[in-house]
Amino acid sequence: MRAIFIAVGSELLDLDRVDTNSIYVARRLREKGILMDMKVVVGDHMDNLSWIVKKACQRAQLVILSGGLGPTEDDITREAVATALKKELVFREEIVSELQGIFKRRGMDMPEINARQAFVIEGAEVIPNPVGTAPGLYCEEGGCKVLLLPGPPNELIPIFEAVFEKHLAPASNYFIYSRTFKLTGISESEADSRCADIYRRYRNPVTTILASPGMIEFHFLGRSRNSDEEARRLTDELAEKVRERLKDFIFAEKEISLPEVVVEGLKARGLSLAVAESCTGGGLGNQVTSVPGSSEVFLGGVIAYANSVKTGLLGVREETLKRHGAVSEATAAEMAAGVRKLCGAAIGLSVTGIAGPGGDNPKKPLGLVYMHLSAENCEQGMRQIFTGNREVVKLRSEYYALNLVREYLNQYSADGKK
Ligand code: AMP
Ligand code: MG
Repeated sequence: MRAIFIAVGSELLDLDRVDTNSIYVARRLREKGILMDMKVVVGDHMDNLSWIVKKACQRAQLVILSGGLGPTEDDITREAVATALKKELVFREEIVSELQGIFKRRGMDMPEINARQAFVIEGAEVIPNPVGTAPGLYCEEGGCKVLLLPGPPNELIPIFEAVFEKHLAPASNYFIYSRTFKLTGISESEADSRCADIYRRYRNPVTTILASPGMIEFHFLGRSRNSDEEARRLTDELAEKVRERLKDFIFAEKEISLPEVVVEGLKARGLSLAVAESCTGGGLGNQVTSVPGSSEVFLGGVIAYANSVKTGLLGVREETLKRHGAVSEATAAEMAAGVRKLCGAAIGLSVTGIAGPGGDNPKKPLGLVYMHLSAENCEQGMRQIFTGNREVVKLRSEYYALNLVREYLNQYSADGKK
């Protein structure tokens, strides 16, 4: 089944609003093997909208519209779809009574203008809106399913879900199976070049690579018309080949974040962590403490932004700062060792770098970051030059620093050192 999503609203074209509804809908459809072919954003313009709806219905078997079902003059989706499908709009008295009830419960009289929401495309099913006033509409015309949903996401979701269960999921003739790898410690282009020759050979499963600061995700979606097992087998076959090439960088294969992996790993081994942060300004501690239950393993940290704090609290030597500078391997090592001692932690983790936009010099470029892990029998440093703005460099530093802990923990259990 081909699906096209049409986001309706002039605000999505020239104001700072973005269409997020299609993301929700695409994700749900994908779970049933229905892939979105196109997304279109159209302003509140009758001719444009009915033109695109007509084209979409000729091309796809499922057309989903969001927005423009409100009561005001610019809400034209019902009328535009009716025109495109050559249908009448019929006035449904019972919808008016429902709307009056909604307003009454809010202690108000229904404004006259809301009666517009009682117009329904001839033959369409009305899907009640449990949250707002605009009901959804569902109809089938010439082999195409057409669904009209209100724009506000909290209203769209329950209506979409109702139609999804009743009409869309049962019509999907695919079995699907998906797998995800989450990676860190490698750039997107490097990860891609290591395995592109493999995944490009497969049209099924579909491979999608998503990059966000510090992290890359590989998604594999396999489809089968025959069985669940076949979808799984196709997906596993490709995923395992890719895994073989990227295994050192994969920190999770399920919906779990890197901080969660690290906290779980620390818990499992009974180890504690303390952090010393310069350029991340507390972000590293924030990553760890966003994980519920992190208090079992996270002792605390020092935001050592100024040199005086690096020396005064963490015991970084003046000599080190003078000779190597605050952004250096030596300073990172002394910060990590210092915070480990200060907090009495098993592992000290530090970050110091130049997040930009200023502060660089020929020897120390923007994005230069040193991270260091200090533990019993282990001193592990890392130097990276990250690209991106200040926020991105900070996030990348946090992820790479946490990845040092992950790698240490893997080795820790492998060596049976505990
Ligand atoms: P409407 O149903 O056109 O009256 O839209 C009402 C509100 O819903 C808009 O002002 C937006 O805030 C929100 N909205 C509309 N379309 C979308 C969309 N595609 N994604 C996310 N929010 C939307
Ligand atoms: Mg609108």
